[in-house]
Amino acid sequence: MVGADAAGMSAAHTALRAAAGADREVGITVLEATGHTSYSACGIPYWIAGDVPGGEDLVARSAREHRAAGIDLRLGTRAVALDPERRRVRVEGDGGPDELEYDELVLATGAAPIVPDWARTAAGGLVEGVHPVKNLDDGAVWTGLLAEAGEMGGPTRAVVVGGGYIGLEMAEALIRRGLTTTLVTRSRVMSSLDADLGAEIEAALVAGGVDLRTGRTVERLETTDGRVGGVVTDTGERLTTDVVVLAIGVEPATSLGAAAGLPLGVEGGYLPDPGGRVAPGIWAAGDCCEVTHRLTGGRAFLPLGTHANKLGRVVGDNLLGGDRRFGGALGTAITRFVAGGVHLEIARTGLSSAAATAAGYDVAALVTIGTTASGYMPEAEQIQTKVIADRTTRRLLGVQIVGGPGSAKRIDAAAAALWGGLDVDDLAGMDLAYAPPFATVWDALQIAARRLADRL
Ligand SMILES: Cc1cc2nc3c(=O)[nH]c(=O)nc-3n(C[C@H](O)[C@H](O)[C@H](O)COP(=O)(O)OP(=O)(O)OC[C@H]3O[C@@H](n4cnc5c(N)ncnc54)[C@H](O)[C@@H]3O)c2cc1C
Repeated sequence: MVGADAAGMSAAHTALRAAAGADREVGITVLEATGHTSYSACGIPYWIAGDVPGGEDLVARSAREHRAAGIDLRLGTRAVALDPERRRVRVEGDGGPDELEYDELVLATGAAPIVPDWARTAAGGLVEGVHPVKNLDDGAVWTGLLAEAGEMGGPTRAVVVGGGYIGLEMAEALIRRGLTTTLVTRSRVMSSLDADLGAEIEAALVAGGVDLRTGRTVERLETTDGRVGGVVTDTGERLTTDVVVLAIGVEPATSLGAAAGLPLGVEGGYLPDPGGRVAPGIWAAGDCCEVTHRLTGGRAFLPLGTHANKLGRVVGDNLLGGDRRFGGALGTAITRFVAGGVHLEIARTGLSSAAATAAGYDVAALVTIGTTASGYMPEAEQIQTKVIADRTTRRLLGVQIVGGPGSAKRIDAAAAALWGGLDVDDLAGMDLAYAPPFATVWDALQIAARRLADRL
């Protein structure tokens, strides 16, 4: 396996279990360029915010535990070249230089953060004070940069570049650490949701203390003694800052396979078949892949831990002759923004109105405002639910949710409905749980589905 995080280690342990179940022996070597394994990148913003005490708390299974399970885990070891004909990988680092032979190879190299030219020094490194948020090393850089926040001479101002979920989670973390935070984004915030709900999110960010700049790009940095001191946008505005978060997306880390001639998709990811194979003897899983979208049947780059773990399990089983299949992705995602007295939850599944229209559907969509609990309960919070369906077939195409505490996890019922190919009438009639502290007697999701159904 190349890559020792979610996808690679899921594949490794699943293969071990499959071998044990079949009374077979399998030798598994995992190559990992960094010194880390099986950590939750998803938890890094909450570590930076101060909710999680240290990076080690984000490690699900340590190197020692992997090795005790029988895996030859080589940290600090990078795979640098691949020879599919001879079934060999050339490695460099602590576990090399070496050439390793394999029977089956799993590429689980993940995705790399996009670093624009303006963030780099002339020598190619990152300008001091400017950093992405991707792995535990990045988390350590951020906790180091913010160690003196709130003290004399410590950082007081931050600019977050990028309005996706990592940008939002970092804006939350920085505000909670006491920094004056500006978020600059090229289009709008959370652009994977429709614009009407996006506007609600933007209003909540502003109410929570984010100084928001939408529709702007960063053109350059201003530095003093090599350290960032300002960000200049395309409107010429200069934002004074002590630190800059790079959260403008990731791209699949596929250079190893690309150099060996493996086919890549339009987004640059590997294109595994439903069983995870990309070429004879070569498999791929996780963020380095483009997955099949369950609704459109097309490929989509959806770099999320939820897919990486499932794809890793599929590959781990199939390596030894299993026949597990990845069921596809719906684009289900969830996040929150909690700062400055605001608690906003955000979730989506399926296609946005624009994506559904582009996929050829006759789109009908409606936003319905409801409450997360019976209106007479103190915990009742506003929830806005957008249901997107095909006008002709009434089939559900997408659901988006923006609301207060207790809103967002409702997306799972919507995702289950989409997964099963249900229509708006099915969702309106499903047997969902009700008691006053948790929902209204018709759940907000079902009211939204029913209202759209009535209009179709
Ligand atoms: C801040 C943040 C928050 C996130 N929040 C969520 C969330 O809430 N929900 C969610 O579902 N997902 C979330 N994600 C995404 C999730 O973390 C990723 O989808 C997941 O980590 C992907 O796992 P992976 O194993 O495919 O890739 P990675 O985690 O990127 O691991 C790939 C590994 O391969 C190694 N590698 C790469 N090339 C080589 C090489 N040539 N040789 C040796 N080793 C190599 C890398 O060092 C890396 O350790 C978040 C990500 C970030 C950064």
